[in-house]
Order: sequence, then C-alpha cells, then structure tokens
Amino acid sequence: MIRHEQVVYAQAQQTAACNATHNIDERLVRWLLRARDLSRSDTLPFTQEFLAQTLGVRRTSVTVVARTLQEAGLFKYTRGRIQIVDPEGMQESACECYDTVCRHYDTLLGVGNN
Ligand SMILES: [Zn+2]
Repeated sequence: MIRHEQVVYAQAQQTAACNATHNIDERLVRWLLRARDLSRSDTLPFTQEFLAQTLGVRRTSVTVVARTLQEAGLFKYTRGRIQIVDPEGMQESACECYDTVCRHYDTLLGVGNN
C-alpha cells in the first residue's frame, strides 16, 4: 500500500511538472501511451473533449494536435475512439515523463510494462 501511494504521489508530481513544461503533443502522446499500458489495448475509447479535460487544454487544441499526430501515422482517430498504430513512434514522440513514470512503476511496484 505504501509503495502504491509513493507511485501515485510521484505520478502527481510528474504530471504537474509535465503540464508546466511540455508541449500538448508530447503530453497527449505520453498520456495515450500510459493509457495503452494500463488497459493493455491499442484501442482507447476517448473523446477529444475528455482528452482536453484530462490535459487541461481547450478541445480545439486537442483537435489540431490529434490531426497532426494522425497525419504522422502514430494513431487513427475516429469519433470517440483512438486506434494506436505506431507505439514505437509514439514513444519517440512522447516527452521524457513517459519513461520516468514507467521507471517509477518498475522500481516501486515491479510491474514494468515498457
Ligand atoms: Zn512531460
């Protein structure tokens, strides 16, 4: 339980730092990769409105960024559903916070999924 609390706290700190310093596209990719890891699925049921609220940005910003990332071939977006096409490319596009969060999990819980 204590280690789980440490992971949650570390993630909250990482997210706060990430929101303050990294671009929306990097944050969106990081968040989608983490959701993919936790759900163990390449298909994610998220609307752009939900993603905007999660990232703390306007929906129109998510629309623009998602279109760019989709054109880069990282994922396909249809209404309310994201199909991850290129997870390796996404890992290259995500900010370093993705690896940091994965390491927290590895170190504290021993359940790496990278
Ligand atoms: Zn970040």
